[in-house]
Amino acid sequence: MTGVPILMYHSISEHPPAATAPLAVHPSAFADQMALLKDRGLTPVPLSALSPPAASGPAPEVVGRPIVITFDDGYADFHERALPVLEHLGFTATVFVTTGWLADAGPDAAGRPLDRTLNWSQTREAAAHGIEIGGHSHSHPQLDQLPGGSLRDELIRSRGLLEDRLGVQVRAMAYPYGYSSARVRQAVLHTGYRSACAVANEVAVRGRHDRLALPRLTIRAGISLERFGRIVDGEPGYRLDRALTKGYAIVRRSRYAAQRMLRDV
Ligand SMILES: [Zn+2]
Repeated sequence: MTGVPILMYHSISEHPPAATAPLAVHPSAFADQMALLKDRGLTPVPLSALSPPAASGPAPEVVGRPIVITFDDGYADFHERALPVLEHLGFTATVFVTTGWLADAGPDAAGRPLDRTLNWSQTREAAAHGIEIGGHSHSHPQLDQLPGGSLRDELIRSRGLLEDRLGVQVRAMAYPYGYSSARVRQAVLHTGYRSACAVANEVAVRGRHDRLALPRLTIRAGISLERFGRIVDGEPGYRLDRALTKGYAIVRRSRYAAQRMLRDV
């Protein structure tokens, strides 16, 4: 099969805090991006639809041109801003929730969320509306840096809480910061996950990519709709975008400003 683009969003917000701003997509840009997917006839599927439901056996057939829309961390604006747009278009998505970050995690609270996060009832409501809930660890550590016991605790506690509180099977996960290792992937498999996302900024291709290290396409703040369309198409060279530093972005903006000045003269 050809590649399946897996989009990675974080926050959908017009006034994000500085910590999430580079990856916060404006709500109107997000609505335009989803409309573009609809116009192109792409069919959003949950991440777990790309992997076999059991440890062995064939991956399920996906009809149409599939795409996976994912959201990391579990920010409250998913419920407020993204869910209504997705619902309007009849789209599903996969939200990777950091269980210790949930707004009403109570005695399970762990780690420090970067922005307002979902609470349990909003997470349950999203699941009831056909959104897949996936794991994203319990406290959002760099999993490849943890010793075995802590690694297992992070994975088992997170998946256990999600399954107990939501009453659904949780089969998909995303590594915090995209970091994994062979040891982390093995632990993820043992915890009961069937597929897991990294970040690599290329289109996932069945047979080429490990289902425990599926590459995703980062959707950053401020990209044009045209650029978004090219990223979805698997724009060659998008991998290089990882090297784009803030400094380079400023250089590009200055060049653009200089061109405008020349044109206006
Ligand atoms: Zn994260």
